[in-house]
Amino acid sequence: MADVILVLNAGSSSIKFSAFDVEGDALELVTHGQVEALFSAPHFVAYDRRGEKSAEHSWGEGAKLQHAEAIAHLGAYLRGHGAGHRLVGVGHRVVHGGARFTKPVLTSPEVLDELDKLTPLAPLHQPHNLRPIRIVAERNPGLPQVACFDTAFHSTQAPLAQAFALPESITKNGVRRYGFHGLSYEYIASALPDVAPDAARGRTVVAHLGNGASLCAMHAGKSVASTMGFTAVDGLMMGTRCGNLDPGVVLYMLDELGMNAREIEDMLYRQSGLLGVSGVSGDMRALLASSDERARFAIDLYVHRIGRELGSMSAALHGLDAIVFTAGIGEHSKEIRQRVCEEAAWWGIELDTEANASGGPRISTASSKVSAWVIPTNEELMIARHTLALIDDKREGASA
Ligand code: ADP
Repeated sequence: MADVILVLNAGSSSIKFSAFDVEGDALELVTHGQVEALFSAPHFVAYDRRGEKSAEHSWGEGAKLQHAEAIAHLGAYLRGHGAGHRLVGVGHRVVHGGARFTKPVLTSPEVLDELDKLTPLAPLHQPHNLRPIRIVAERNPGLPQVACFDTAFHSTQAPLAQAFALPESITKNGVRRYGFHGLSYEYIASALPDVAPDAARGRTVVAHLGNGASLCAMHAGKSVASTMGFTAVDGLMMGTRCGNLDPGVVLYMLDELGMNAREIEDMLYRQSGLLGVSGVSGDMRALLASSDERARFAIDLYVHRIGRELGSMSAALHGLDAIVFTAGIGEHSKEIRQRVCEEAAWWGIELDTEANASGGPRISTASSKVSAWVIPTNEELMIARHTLALIDDKREGASA
């Protein structure tokens, strides 16, 4: 009977899942999909190992589906399609591990209580990430579950890179830079030795450009600095998040515009970035296809901000040997890659236009001083690998 690891990535209104067959140390994706729009028009869709749709269900406009019901539906799908398979562990994406959890961890009631305490550091994500762990534990008390953190990869950063210039009365509460997208960066770090050995050993900036976006400065595969800080709103301009902002603007919104904390949060997280600046869309594809002047300005600003932050990351590395593009925009948009490489040409990046058009992996010329790459990220596989590593003892015990 084949062993299977389930990976869950739960947000406030959606649950993404992937299931991997375990063959010795190898993991193979067998199905993936999601339940989305849980509280407005819940919809479940799943794909098989060939990427073809294998199941779909809608609950209808206006229906509301609790996380527990969504997980029950997912469980029924997996049981129905998993003949001859045995679920041996569940890995979860958890946004915040705080100062204590610098590695993935097997969950327990005590661990979950500790992770609950980090909710004030990531109120928009942490509770939603933790809920499915408790739901699965209730339904399957013996099933090992592993929490994998977006912050953990950045725990190698020096205290200087993590500090804010604030008094201890504030920083003692855990107010410091943590960095996010860590599972994506960890996956890229694991792929670099095969794809780009020099970049794996050297000073490399990885650009994770999805709906959320950040840069990570890596030296020899370890995180040295990141554009995201205390929260995932810092750094680059994103789909709907503003990125780096003078804190004086927040005070202005409070004092002069009479906005309250929730309104400001909504402004900074959901109404800004590409969406706010363009007034058209937060989706890069839509902006690239638009002839609207403001869409063009939003893209110009997006690229300009990456160029500026690339300077900051390279300064933290004392130089730059390679840049890697990943996530939705980084993997699929040759225009944005080209624009970023042109913006960074003064670093010695020379784009190979043909290689860029065909998607790489190497998209810089052979003589380029700084090499440029495209490497698709795979956070789910990273979570599955961590889960397998932590449940291995139990798995051997179970099959003995
Ligand atoms: P998430 O951060 O939610 O996982 P993704 O990594 O899938 O998101 O990235 C989503 C972004 O990628 C969107 O802005 C989308 O427009 C963009 N994107 C996807 N494909 C393309 C493409 N072919 N050209 C330009 N942008 C693209």
